[in-house]
Amino acid sequence: MKPLFHPHFVNGPFDDPALFIDFLFQKRALLFDLGDLHLLSSRQILRLSDIFVSHTHMDHFSGFDRRVRILLARDKLLRLFGPPGFIDRVEHRLASYTWNLVENFPVDFTISAGEFDGKELRCARFRCRNRFGREGEEVSPVADGVLLDEVPFRIRSVVLDHKTPCLAFSLEEKNHLNIMKDRLLKLGLPVGSWLTELKAAVLRGDPEDALFRVWWREGGVVQERLLNLEFLKREIVRIVPGQKITYVTDVGCHPENIFRIKELAAGSDYFFIEATFLHEDEAKAREKYHLTARQAGILAREAGAVRLIPFHFSAKYARRGEELRREVADAFEAQVA
Ligand SMILES: [Zn+2]
Repeated sequence: MKPLFHPHFVNGPFDDPALFIDFLFQKRALLFDLGDLHLLSSRQILRLSDIFVSHTHMDHFSGFDRRVRILLARDKLLRLFGPPGFIDRVEHRLASYTWNLVENFPVDFTISAGEFDGKELRCARFRCRNRFGREGEEVSPVADGVLLDEVPFRIRSVVLDHKTPCLAFSLEEKNHLNIMKDRLLKLGLPVGSWLTELKAAVLRGDPEDALFRVWWREGGVVQERLLNLEFLKREIVRIVPGQKITYVTDVGCHPENIFRIKELAAGSDYFFIEATFLHEDEAKAREKYHLTARQAGILAREAGAVRLIPFHFSAKYARRGEELRREVADAFEAQVA
């Protein structure tokens, strides 16, 4: 089974965080945190449709300018999500540039910025042709922390405490559909783009007694068969649980945070979690509202994560990256066994 989402960090664990999540079959990607983006190509940056910012400390938000710079003359909508106060930050960032001449651009690049307080999402728009003035503000309730809900996946968020509100995110693929090619062959049906349409119909929950059009080309002529959706689903589709990718950074290790993190990260296939300090510096970690490597490992184990990827190592351990990794792995594995 090919995973639908491919997460990887743009930079190394000592650099400013930005987790790039590429989509397998679409020219689209998501980003968790907006740190240094210089290692991303323009083409990769253009794929980003939605960016989720944990908080606006500089190391998590300084990639904003590069993202806007590349999109400026494009007819695109960029959605950004962040913690309370986020819309003000976006507004101020945009207001620091001079925007005369943009009102004549042939296209209208638009930024939608949303701030989540745990209950509601407040959104505002900033349009290029309007010199990125703030407009169209609206508030909507958020159920179960779900910020984005699309056919194949949802993004869930919780508000954590970093002495300032800090969001953690989870991408949950709803269900992963595999096509059983051998069954397809037995039914005399060829592979083709109709399979993508079939998967979408199943994920949407289209009525099962509906007729589904299976079509293909043979010698330049379109062939088709109309088959019951329920039949196709039963015969050739295997539904397996989707992937879950969780991202947690910049959090104090106190009971309220731990409770929320474990709930968000439960059963993650990939758990990206900060491991900023060695446990020998636990006092420092507490003072700075960060996790130690050991705490990160224990949290991931208790959340039942499958793979753990530590990041956001403090620069003070520049030559001790392996120690941080070992401490995380020991806490994660020792207690799994
Ligand atoms: Zn940070």
